[in-house]
Amino acid sequence: MNVLKFGGTSVGTVESLSNVKRIVESLPADTIVVVSALGGLTDKLIATASLAAEGGDWAPEYEKMAARHFQIIDTLVVEDKKETTSEVVNSLLLDLRRTYEAVALLGDIPPRTLDQIVSFGERMSAPIVAGIIRDAKLHNSLDFIKTEKWFDKNIADAALSHDLIVKEFSGKCGGPHVTGGFIAQDRDSGQITNLGRGGSDYTAALIAAALDADMLDIWTDVDGFMTADPRIIKDAVVLPEMSFVESMELCSFGAKVIYPPTIYPVFHKNIPIRILNTFNPGASGTFISDSSDCDAFPVKGVTAVRNTCLVHLYGNITENVAKINTRAYNAMARNGISVFLLSQPGENHEFAFAISSADMQRTNKVLNEEFAPELIDGSLSSISTTSGMSTVAVVGEGLKNIKGVKGRIVHTLQRKSIDILASSEGSNDTALSFVVDEKDTVEAIAAIHGLFF
Ligand code: ADP
Ligand code: ASP
Ligand code: MG
Repeated sequence: MNVLKFGGTSVGTVESLSNVKRIVESLPADTIVVVSALGGLTDKLIATASLAAEGGDWAPEYEKMAARHFQIIDTLVVEDKKETTSEVVNSLLLDLRRTYEAVALLGDIPPRTLDQIVSFGERMSAPIVAGIIRDAKLHNSLDFIKTEKWFDKNIADAALSHDLIVKEFSGKCGGPHVTGGFIAQDRDSGQITNLGRGGSDYTAALIAAALDADMLDIWTDVDGFMTADPRIIKDAVVLPEMSFVESMELCSFGAKVIYPPTIYPVFHKNIPIRILNTFNPGASGTFISDSSDCDAFPVKGVTAVRNTCLVHLYGNITENVAKINTRAYNAMARNGISVFLLSQPGENHEFAFAISSADMQRTNKVLNEEFAPELIDGSLSSISTTSGMSTVAVVGEGLKNIKGVKGRIVHTLQRKSIDILASSEGSNDTALSFVVDEKDTVEAIAAIHGLFF
């Protein structure tokens, strides 16, 4: 059995949804289909909420969203499901209208209300897609994708979700089965939550892992995983295959193809992922498994995370390198802050970490508390945070076999007059990463891509 996930662009228009229908109807009935909201809808839901909170005229935007859904229902939903699908969507749209009215009255969007608002995207797209595909059965993902609070985030409760997914789908005959991605429910409060932007991939992976699927197919708008984002690098090429580890590195360093947490559950069960194109279903796509072709493609790609913040710890701390690193790393991890680059101490005895700019304030607080004794006794002179940077990463299990690879990249960036503000070799030899000024991001990606491809 395969789990298929169709992203926003794949369920964005009458044309793309016709492709989805053709693809799914050609597969066995036990196929499970996870869908995103209609393309661009999640952004629209958020923008309209902001408009309402600012006292703007949100109603026309709301009407456009409503009309878009009804146009698809009218054109594509099979006759005998048209009425019930319209009723379901209509009732959700009324609920959405009431929520916007409340936001307009309040002049603010509390986080819980925003979670409620973005959930309408998948709550509407799932019944519509189920209404389009012959014999499809609809499943409510709020019943089996559960989250728990982790600092200010909601994270999947994987164990509970696993059990509920098994209960939901086991022994269910007929199908295909359709459900909405991204949305979830807090296991304690019952509030609607979500798995984070791009999270439909993760819903599909949780389902695939729980049901021991044969394959997780991510259907999107490109022919496969490419050597760089094709929107930035015009001559990026599709990779026929890569390993779980390589895809994990590329995605956590910003390649938008798969939402990063997605890979772990299927990697753990050794369920391969395919990246396929809804608009070109004949293309062979990218096959992601536990092996990697390092001969043909020692390097799999170049990518970047923008909004990087660089944290520096300055002081006379050379003899305690490992200890300081571990303490800083653990203090941040305990507070829910991910560190994606850990640099070697530099000439001025400084340590550098790269984090997301969104975590900057919290990091400052956490590190100042952790190192309060050293800051007082002078063994650390200061802790600084600077935003406005990008982390550019080169990924491939074959990197370690390329002689002098780091030197060649450094030289290439220097020739383009791009300053490297920190660098790291990662922990598993599969990635090399470099922090550069955000304005140099595209040029750095292009230069490194040109070196390898
Ligand atoms: P979906 O709506 O299907 O989830 P996303 O927009 O999340 O699609 O992901 C697909 C997009 O990822 C592509 O359109 C492409 O612009 C972008 N992308 C970024 N890096 C890569 C890469 N290395 N290979 C392919 N696509 C990439
Ligand atoms: N609709 C959600 C988003 O736009 C989830 C997804 O598309 O995966 O982020
Ligand atoms: Mg996506």
